[in-house]
Amino acid sequence: MQKRVECECGWAQQTDDEAQLVAAVQQHAKAVHNMEGVTREQVLAQARPV
Ligand SMILES: [Zn+2]
Repeated sequence: MQKRVECECGWAQQTDDEAQLVAAVQQHAKAVHNMEGVTREQVLAQARPV
């Protein structure tokens, strides 16, 4: 099942690979928003099935 995470800045990531989704969001949060320590649970809480 594909899941999609949308960021408030307009960036979005969609994949059926949960580990990849978490990694992509963590990388985006750090690179663009200078946010470290985003957890897997936080990412998955934002994810919506597509
Ligand atoms: Zn963003």
